[in-house]
Parts: sequence; structure tokens; C-alpha cells
Amino acid sequence: MKGLYYSEFKVNFDRDEFEMNKGLKGLEERVLSQGLCVSCGACLSLCPYLRSWQGRVVKLHDCGLDEGRCFAYCPKAEIDLERIDHKEINQKYKKIEMGPVKKVLMVRAKGTIWAKKAQSGGVVSALIDFALGKKAIDAAILTQRETDILPGGRIVRNREDILTCAGSSYISGPTLEALHKGLWQGEEKIGVVGLPCQALALTRMRSSSLEKRTPVDKVELVIGLFCTWALEYEQFSTFLKGKLGQSPIHKLEITPPPERLLKVYTNGQLHPLPIDEIRPFIRKGCHVCSDMTAEFSDISAGTVEGIEGWNTVIIRSDRGEALFKEAEEEGIIECQLLPEDHLEHLKEASLLKKERAINNIREREQSRGKSR
Ligand SMILES: Cc1cc2nc3c(=O)[nH]c(=O)nc-3n(C[C@H](O)[C@H](O)[C@H](O)COP(=O)(O)OP(=O)(O)OC[C@H]3O[C@@H](n4cnc5c(N)ncnc54)[C@H](O)[C@@H]3O)c2cc1C
Repeated sequence: MKGLYYSEFKVNFDRDEFEMNKGLKGLEERVLSQGLCVSCGACLSLCPYLRSWQGRVVKLHDCGLDEGRCFAYCPKAEIDLERIDHKEINQKYKKIEMGPVKKVLMVRAKGTIWAKKAQSGGVVSALIDFALGKKAIDAAILTQRETDILPGGRIVRNREDILTCAGSSYISGPTLEALHKGLWQGEEKIGVVGLPCQALALTRMRSSSLEKRTPVDKVELVIGLFCTWALEYEQFSTFLKGKLGQSPIHKLEITPPPERLLKVYTNGQLHPLPIDEIRPFIRKGCHVCSDMTAEFSDISAGTVEGIEGWNTVIIRSDRGEALFKEAEEEGIIECQLLPEDHLEHLKEASLLKKERAINNIREREQSRGKSR
């Protein structure tokens, strides 16, 4: 891993910026038509021309603006991570395999209430619940499965709602649309749980100079989820229906090597699917994503491979650290040191995602160059 810099991650970045449309036209040319959209929801409900349909962002009409928030907030449009206002992150990758890190720990939520519904250790749900209880936030945007497996953003204000959203949907959906579209009730402090692309979009929103009519400035806490990739809804759900029929899906779970399965739980039944069978449904945009651990978050959480019921947690910001410390002191969560071999593996996996993304970006650039 010699000489990797954030500046190499110039996805859709043109040196001649002045000629580039940074509105819907640019978004369409560089992201939507290239199949790079991951449907994070950052561009939705800002103008009448973009809609979410079956897990995809669809353009309804042309827009004549040279610049727009749809482009400015998109985590796939003109990404030059070096330019993003994220003070600690502008360093060599070697030093920051996983972005800014204060602590990496193995953590789980105490109490059986989270264990039943949560994906792994329940830390994400428990921390949001704790932050609401302590009034560190007034509401949070989580992700809930809508019809069958299609996820969408949901504003939560209490434990019952948090529990409804617990668990992972490995499909990417427009969670962030809730920020612009949500029926807010005068909340001043908002928490968001999202994938690395969604955490990056939030960072772009918060550092954008474009007019903000949305509650972007009220985002106080971002909890990011580790993510190697997410699936595309339409094709994957057709595939699943072919395999399982119309049975409602209760839980999805990905198991680590050597098993490497997507376990789908329906009414009392388990359907194990080899990961290789679902790879064709991975979003194209995930192949140019360099972030596995949600580096633009206050706290990031993933599963601890091979140790059931625990989360790997990366504490990144002062705000994240303060919330986490309080939750630990009040007995909401319990922590252990992450075993050294797990930490090394995490760093390796994070670097591997960056390496793969760089190679894919270079390949794309080369083939774009050839076709010009
Ligand atoms: C697409 C995807 C890929 C992932 N890949 C990895 C991985 O490679 N390695 C790893 O260690 N962990 C991965 N995770 C994270 C892991 O599945 C757990 O979310 C994480 O360990 C937190 O566990 P928990 O028990 O604290 O979560 P819970 O307490 O159950 O809370 C989970 C939270 O995730 C949110 N959520 C669920 N689905 C989505 C979605 N599609 N988009 C945005 N938010 C969502 C919900 O709002 C909920 O609040 C992935 C998650 C997703 C959604």
C-alpha cells in the first residue's frame, strides 16, 4: 500500500471545473447514467425533478441550473476527498487505514431488549435510545424496511420506533430523504444512522456553501455503519422472490468466512444463500467506494466477525467519545478491548476496500479516456 492518498479518489472529478455542470445535468451525466448512484437519498426532496422509485433515483425532468444541491450533496459526484472539510482526514492512508480513530473497542448493549431485534451487539440502537433519553438529540433518522425489503428513512423519537428499525437491510435505500422531507416537530438536534456513503453525503451537506433550507445544520450526531457493499433493490428482490416466493422476510444476516452466507429468515425458516450468488446484485457505485468503516461519523459500528453478539466500535470525534463514555458509565453498554488479531484484520479489510476502489476508479477513468 505505497503512496495512497485521498487525492487519488477523484471519482467523476474534472480538472477543468469551470466547464462542468454541477447541477442535475452533471448529476445525470456523471452519476445516474453511469449507474453509480447508491440511492442514499441525499438529493431527494430538494427539487421537484428527482424521485425515488423502487430503490432507484429517477429524473423526471431536465433542470437548467448550473449548480444545485443534488450534485453538491451526492457522495458519488465529483468526489475529491482531499477537499472535503474534514480536518483530521487529510493524511496519508498508511497512517489512517480507517479514517480518524480515537479508540477501537468491542462493545455490546446491556439488557435483553436490544439483543432480540438488533443485528449484532445492539450498540447502534442502544446509543440512539440513550442519546434521545439524555436529550443529546431530539429525534433521529434511522432506516426501516418498507414494503418487503426496500429500506427507507424514518424519523424516530422513542424506543418503540428504534426497535422497529433495528437489524440490517443489506439493500441501500434513500434514508437521507427523511432529512429534507421529514415531518419535523421543531427538533433542534438530530441524530442520523447511516452507511458510509450516507455519512459522506452528510459531511458534504454540512460543508456546502449552497443555501440550506433543510435541517442539515441540526445534525448533531452521526453513527455510521461498516459496509463492504450494499445490494440493489429491484434485481435482488426479484431474485429473492424467485427463490423464496412471497414469504415476508424477518431478518437478513451475513456470516463471515469460511461460511460466507447471506442468511434470510422468513416465517420460522432459514434460507442460506452463498454470497457469490448475490454478488451480481451489488451496487455498481459500491465498487468505487473507498470507505468500509464510515469514516465521516462520530461513532462507527460493525459486527465482530466470529464473536456473536458484539459490535466493533470506532470512536472518532469528541462528541462521539463523550456520548459513549456516558453510556458506558450508566451501564447502557459494556466494552472490552478488541482482540489484536481482529483489529489487524479490520485494518486490512478497510485498506483492501480502498485498494479495490482505486483500481476500479483507475479502470473506469482509462475506459472513459479511451471512449472520448
Ligand atoms: C448495507 C450494509 C452493509 C453492511 N456491511 C457490513 C460489513 O461489511 N461489515 C460489518 O462489520 N458490518 C456491516 N454492516 C453493519 C452491521 O450489519 C450492523 O448494522 C452493525 O454491526 C450494527 O449492529 P447493531 O446490532 O448495533 O445494529 P442495530 O442496533 O440492529 O441497528 C442497526 C441500524 O442500522 C440501520 N440500518 C439498517 N439497514 C440499513 C440500511 N440499508 N441503510 C442504512 N441504515 C440501515 C437501522 O436504522 C438501525 O438503526 C452493514 C450494514 C448494512 C446496512
